[in-house]
Amino acid sequence: MGEEYRLTLAGLQALLDALGARGYHILGPRLRDEAIIYDEVTKLADLPAGWTDRQEAGQYRMERRADNALFGYALGPQAWRRFLQPPRHTLWRARRADPAADDFDILPADTAPPKFAFLGVRACELHAISIQDRILRDNAYADASYTARRAEAFFIAVNCGMAGGTCFCASMGTGPTAQTGYDLALTELLDATRHEFLIRAGSARGAALLAILPHTPANEADRAQEAAILADTAQHMGRTLETNGLKERLQANLEDPHWDEIATRCLSCGNCTMVCPTCFCTTLEDHTNLAGTEAVREQRWDSCFTLDFSYIHGDSVRAGIAARYRHWLTHKLANWVDQFGEMGCVGCGRCLTWCPAAIDITAEAAAIGRATHDQEDQHGNA
Ligand code: SF4
Ligand code: SF4
Repeated sequence: MGEEYRLTLAGLQALLDALGARGYHILGPRLRDEAIIYDEVTKLADLPAGWTDRQEAGQYRMERRADNALFGYALGPQAWRRFLQPPRHTLWRARRADPAADDFDILPADTAPPKFAFLGVRACELHAISIQDRILRDNAYADASYTARRAEAFFIAVNCGMAGGTCFCASMGTGPTAQTGYDLALTELLDATRHEFLIRAGSARGAALLAILPHTPANEADRAQEAAILADTAQHMGRTLETNGLKERLQANLEDPHWDEIATRCLSCGNCTMVCPTCFCTTLEDHTNLAGTEAVREQRWDSCFTLDFSYIHGDSVRAGIAARYRHWLTHKLANWVDQFGEMGCVGCGRCLTWCPAAIDITAEAAAIGRATHDQEDQHGNA
């Protein structure tokens, strides 16, 4: 991590102004529809000052804080994914000038993506973006739209000053401190005497921007305050997930009756996949007008909880909810390791919070294979 400096509230506004002057479309946290969402931010007054979120499995509430923290919440329902890989996106259009003719013209798809600056990116979200990079950018079948959006994006991380009731990034080694993947990282330092930020650069372009902002060197007291905030956040995660041996236990218990028990609660609504920052599956849809003169091919988010997702040759491979939930959980926490060398979960907790049935991935993962494990323990102790 880079050297630390102090940035005042005026300095943070100067950062927004400098990004705007460089043509960035700045997206950050805003309070809307009783949730923190990501939308355009140009001034500090746009940020959700004095608001926090209370989260539990199946529950999300906004509440007032006792102070005016600008980033005093855990996470909202939206992941940054929606800007890098939009939920619906036109790949190409075709037009036939003469309905009787055989040929048609391929037209450019969407206009060039904006130059995004993301403000308030949490450590777990940076990690999720690095996971998506591997899948959507850094392989032989790169997604051109994702790659273009990602290339220009500027990341301003904000280290977490509090953990949500469904957070478990500490278990996954992905937070609460941003380690890599950012251009600038902030930690909000707020007490009775001051409201400032510790700021450090994580890239050359971050350092270049920091150089033109009003800032002063941080001192030991600033660093100690930041360390205390981050240690406190790590200690107050709402959830934990034991990852030791988890992949092997899940893969060895694909017929555990607990999968069927989960299926009695799971609605197969797909909410968990829509809010997850590491999910990446899409499908293609073609639309034509009735005259047969225009066609559009769109890419849109898909979910492994739909029947269509596994439809092959006359039937769906995963027809039952137990099979679909098992596929989702074992992919995130086990098979992803075989594919990509790490788990596909960063512990953001969104899938717990936004599940209408309050299904908790940490509890379900802990329960799979538990009966077998307990029996083995009993035999071992006999
Ligand atoms: S686990 Fe929850 S959010 Fe996911 S599909 Fe089932 S009911 Fe929906
Ligand atoms: S599986 Fe759940 S906790 Fe893990 S990254 Fe996805 S939404 Fe977050």
